[in-house]
Amino acid sequence: MRYNPLGQTGLLVSELCLGTMTFGGGEGIWRNIGDLQQAEADEIVRGALDAGINFIDTANVYAEGLSEQITGQALRNLGVARDEVIVATKVFGRVGSTPNAGGASRGHILDQAKASLKRLQLDHIDLYQIHGFDPLTPIEETLEALDQLVRQGYVRYVGVSNWGAWHVAKGLGIAERRHLAPIRSLQAYYTIAGRDLEREIVPMLTAEKVGLMVWSPLAGGLLSGKYGRDGKGSDGRRANFDFPPVNRTRAFDVIDAMRPIAEAKGCTIAQVALAWLLHQPVVTTVIIGAKRPEQLRENIAATEVVLSAEERATLDAVSAL
Ligand code: NDP
Repeated sequence: MRYNPLGQTGLLVSELCLGTMTFGGGEGIWRNIGDLQQAEADEIVRGALDAGINFIDTANVYAEGLSEQITGQALRNLGVARDEVIVATKVFGRVGSTPNAGGASRGHILDQAKASLKRLQLDHIDLYQIHGFDPLTPIEETLEALDQLVRQGYVRYVGVSNWGAWHVAKGLGIAERRHLAPIRSLQAYYTIAGRDLEREIVPMLTAEKVGLMVWSPLAGGLLSGKYGRDGKGSDGRRANFDFPPVNRTRAFDVIDAMRPIAEAKGCTIAQVALAWLLHQPVVTTVIIGAKRPEQLRENIAATEVVLSAEERATLDAVSAL
């Protein structure tokens, strides 16, 4: 496991981050995404930490708070020292039906930070991220609320997720002018089959030295190659083509290009997809999802897969914009 600074900070985060969106289940979409209960989650967290992963990502909306609760309890159950793990969570998604129960307003951020700390059973969040761009709230208001949390010691670093390049650039300018805590990382969808952020976001992140945390690196499992072009898996399950949004033709062309590379290297297609991301200089960490310990082990072993220049050129030929 290698460790990278989180953007322009002294904080070293593992090149893989453990995603916990599958913890908790609950109702509706969250149950479909995953419903790992405490004992299963403990096993996944233990496996990740044992392999050198020191970074865990959750959000207040995942499984309606259960993901944070299970993550916090797992750290307790496993006796993990606070300074051995970097905990990232997020705010923005709707947590209720009242008008202010979502977004990036001052009130919602301050209330939700408190609620997240309670569920996580922690006294500080290492990285607090705004989960999406709020067109209603002035960026100034959002950054001032985050800065207050940093000054009070509840949050160590500030990040954002799913923001456009100009949102981040504007936020960086505001933070600098007003001496507020700067944006240190962006969480975004990026895969070998979905390289859109290379147009504007990658140049901005590189120029501004903001870290990139990649979400859904296997496009929800599709890029493991376990589904056919008809979307059917060998176990009869169907691929979810709606989230994250994937261009199916491109995704299956990329899978066809990864398959012989994986066979020649004696690794899996999922590992090639993850290794490709780990070879991108802009990537600080890849947030992996795993529902079972075998998937976790396979995804962690992707850190040992080295892609040659020729292999990367072959993959670029089908995947580059
Ligand atoms: P992936 O794209 O890696 O998908 C993970 C899913 O793929 C697993 O639940 C599993 O589902 C399947 N899978 C995982 N490993 C393998 C493997 N080796 N072989 C075959 N199938 C595999 O990541 P996620 O979509 O889960 O996202 C990861 C994390 O990113 C989340 O936990 C969350 O922390 C973050 N995230 C952030 C978002 C944001 O807006 N900021 C949005 C989405 C995610 P199955 O077994 O059912 O096929």
